[in-house]
Amino acid sequence: MAFLGENIPKLGFGFMRLPMIGEEIDMEQTKEMVDLFMSKGFSYFDSSWGYNGGKSEEAMKAAIVDRYPRESFQIATKCPVWIVKTKEEAQNMIWTSLERTGAGYIDYYLLHNLGDSRTKFFDDYGMWEYARELKEKGVVRHIGFSIHDNAEALDKVLTEHPEAEFVQFQLNYDDWESPTIQARKCYEVALKHQKPIIVMEPVKGGLLANPTEDIRKIFEEANPNASLASWAIRYAASLDNIITVLSGMSTMDQVRDNVSFMEDFKPLSKEEQAVIEKAQKALREIPNIPCTACQYCVKGCPQDIRIPNVFATYNRKLVYNDLASAKSRYGLETRMNGKASDCIACGNCEMVCPQHINIIENLKIIAGEFE
Ligand code: SF4
Ligand code: SF4
Repeated sequence: MAFLGENIPKLGFGFMRLPMIGEEIDMEQTKEMVDLFMSKGFSYFDSSWGYNGGKSEEAMKAAIVDRYPRESFQIATKCPVWIVKTKEEAQNMIWTSLERTGAGYIDYYLLHNLGDSRTKFFDDYGMWEYARELKEKGVVRHIGFSIHDNAEALDKVLTEHPEAEFVQFQLNYDDWESPTIQARKCYEVALKHQKPIIVMEPVKGGLLANPTEDIRKIFEEANPNASLASWAIRYAASLDNIITVLSGMSTMDQVRDNVSFMEDFKPLSKEEQAVIEKAQKALREIPNIPCTACQYCVKGCPQDIRIPNVFATYNRKLVYNDLASAKSRYGLETRMNGKASDCIACGNCEMVCPQHINIIENLKIIAGEFE
């Protein structure tokens, strides 16, 4: 069945991790990266009002909008309204984005990062109605949202807001069956609501390009010429109903590699799918905190600690041995909720945990390493 964005090439350029020189975006390199990307037939660029304090949207103007015909590319940007205090500030974000990008209109406008306590800000500030008005006036062409939450939360938003034309969420082969990210379940919910998907984090913030030696071997034995990122991006792009798969590219080498296998994109073969399944199995076997994200512990926590989410961030360290990535994710997860060190050892959570996890002890370890 035809869907919105079907004809967009299946690799999108995420403007979130652009090359930097000190505090500034390296515009010369960014332009070269954009030129190579565009020369290979790709056209979708993704930013947000909040990326790099607005410099990412300005980089879109300098590298894309000022240098290419407007109809030859799609601009996506987002409004993270949970960081402002008033409806007026929230609704002004689109005008700031238009000024910074110089794009005239936004092709794909996203309410940014729904989920948890953030979702209600979009309702409180009337952002859904406002997005519909913007679409009617031609200021934006399509409206959707990005979300960092589970399938139930996604289902709720899509049920309450059928005006969303598309949805963006984290999807990769490691998180496909993850109890916290629930990529497979989210994918199924999007299909149920007949919403096309923009994939983010296909390489899990770079972790899948830099896994442990055992995982690396599985892929290299299957195809020594394919990069590890290529497996991850092709996995996501092989699914049905995908508008595009975003890659937050930071170097020319990443652009060169990505366009090399996505220019003439072929979905994963059955044999290649089997290699992915082998890697998924090996990843599951690496020791980590065996939290199934059942959420039983969350309600009774007087300190509002999102225990399963905190454990998921620590598992990034245990499984990928990448402290920096785990710490940065921990910072995001605890920005609006309790930290591991807020635990007062009341024991409510341990009483209900069906996995009998030593939650208090684990939180102590996590607080020691991440705070
Ligand atoms: S022991 Fe700590 S984490 Fe568990 S419910 Fe009490 S405060 Fe929350
Ligand atoms: S009750 Fe146990 S398994 Fe369930 S989310 Fe909490 S820590 Fe994880």
